[in-house]
Amino acid sequence: MNSGRIRRVVIVGGGTAGWMTAAALAQAFKGTLQSIRLIESEEIGTVGVGEATIPPIRRFNARLGIDEDEFIRHTQGSFKLGIEFVDWLRPGHSYIHPFGRYGADLDNVSFIHFWMRRHLAGDTSPLDDYCLAIAAARLGRFTRPDARPDGVMSTLNYAFHFDASLYARYLRAYAERRGVLRTEGRVAEVKLRAEDGFIEAVVMQGGEKIEGELFIDCSGFRGLLIEDALHTGYVDWSQWLPCNRAFAMPSASVGDPPPYTRSTARAAGWQWRIPLQHRVGNGYVYCSEFVGDDEAAMTLKDNLEGAALADPRPLRFTAGMRRKFWNRNCVALGLAGGFLEPLESTSIHLIQSGISKLMTLFPDRHFDPLLSDEFNRQSTLQYEWIRDFLVAHYKLTERGDTPFWNYCRNMPIPDSLRAKLDLFRNRALVFRMDDELFLEPSWTAVLVGQGITPRSYDPLADATDAATLERGMKNMRDTVRRTAESLPTHGEFIARHCRANG
Ligand SMILES: Cc1cc2nc3c(=O)[nH]c(=O)nc-3n(C[C@H](O)[C@H](O)[C@H](O)COP(=O)(O)OP(=O)(O)OC[C@H]3O[C@@H](n4cnc5c(N)ncnc54)[C@H](O)[C@@H]3O)c2cc1C
Repeated sequence: MNSGRIRRVVIVGGGTAGWMTAAALAQAFKGTLQSIRLIESEEIGTVGVGEATIPPIRRFNARLGIDEDEFIRHTQGSFKLGIEFVDWLRPGHSYIHPFGRYGADLDNVSFIHFWMRRHLAGDTSPLDDYCLAIAAARLGRFTRPDARPDGVMSTLNYAFHFDASLYARYLRAYAERRGVLRTEGRVAEVKLRAEDGFIEAVVMQGGEKIEGELFIDCSGFRGLLIEDALHTGYVDWSQWLPCNRAFAMPSASVGDPPPYTRSTARAAGWQWRIPLQHRVGNGYVYCSEFVGDDEAAMTLKDNLEGAALADPRPLRFTAGMRRKFWNRNCVALGLAGGFLEPLESTSIHLIQSGISKLMTLFPDRHFDPLLSDEFNRQSTLQYEWIRDFLVAHYKLTERGDTPFWNYCRNMPIPDSLRAKLDLFRNRALVFRMDDELFLEPSWTAVLVGQGITPRSYDPLADATDAATLERGMKNMRDTVRRTAESLPTHGEFIARHCRANG
């Protein structure tokens, strides 16, 4: 009955994607596969960036049974309440996309509609005043949310910043303890079956042939299996996401790590700041058509808060995704599958959601195309939804001070995004499509942050008595402010729970 079962899984690549996949498969299959083998080459190395995450990663850790404080200690991690976008709308302006909710919904009407009602009636209190994650981030404070469903402490949500290489090392130890076999060396050749073009084996530079039934391509941008061997093709989205290069460089910490990522718009892209316990990660993501490499590197160096700890490291990419993430007996995860720039820290999440879909649709040796088709359908949608969210940040700028921002402001956008923006502009509405990653609070934060004031709101929000609403909203603002002020600083919280050793 089990004769068709997959017995040997081969993962090519030992970056974040490879080790996340290895750890998750080892945990889920609990030794019932004949082998899970991961091949990586220290000589080639990993991309070495990817240090900011979004809240669903906590589910990934929980499924692996990882203790969160231990994980933070091992990865020099810190907590993340959201992302601050500086100078994106116009120079001098900033807003936060928080992980967490605004205010409280009432009678199934979202808080944003009550805020809109008051706003259109002349109340000047900003939306931010109703969000605990934003208030805490601005004060540099952090604690974990309260599990009880009501009360302001339940509105918080958080993710992590961590050192990418320590994260891969941590997951490697986890996976190896559960039986994953690691092979060091370079894959030199991919052997395909003559009859159907399925991958039969990979051949190492030393000549060793490693066979398997299911191959996971985690080899990074190049896509050693999915592209070099299977010629799957790539959908290029650079007309909407024109940034195609980055410099990354670490700097020394100055003071306690802020509990949020910062993204600052620059002349031809944007700069990230990711605070860890032992250093700060920085990078300038830019479009090479609008700025030269030397100038980009200089911009990054000139805009560090602490002393540089290394030279700027160049990276190149093209926004987009593979035509198929799962082709024959190969599933591409991580950079091998596609790349959306790190503006909303979504790449590691895409690895996680790819792994989770693979588990649900896990094939047998017959590789029923129904499974791969569904995997590809869902993955494509995930990529497109995130793409639209990212494009909105660029499109909605008011900046016209450089050719890059002029291009972004005037560029055509995908129809799916146009429809979303129109709904929000007209009625403050955000609908979640199926399994879409970013929910109403995220879209609201970015669209309001990028300068959209909706023309109207849900008429049901008028059903609440005006004086009661005004009192309720003032209470909310006071509660958010008082609660944020009562929290420990992020530094104190880390010192108390998860200070890294050394
Ligand atoms: C500028 C930039 C910033 C980013 N910031 C973020 C962020 O803040 N948050 C986020 O979620 N994501 C971010 N990402 C994405 C994130 O870095 C990746 O999703 C993540 O690191 C996974 O990479 P990977 O494992 O797919 O590839 P890699 O890290 O490149 O690993 C590839 C692996 O394949 C191996 N390999 C390749 N060829 C061979 C071969 N021939 N033989 C043997 N082994 C081979 C390599 O040795 C390596 O182990 C960022 C990416 C970039 C470019």
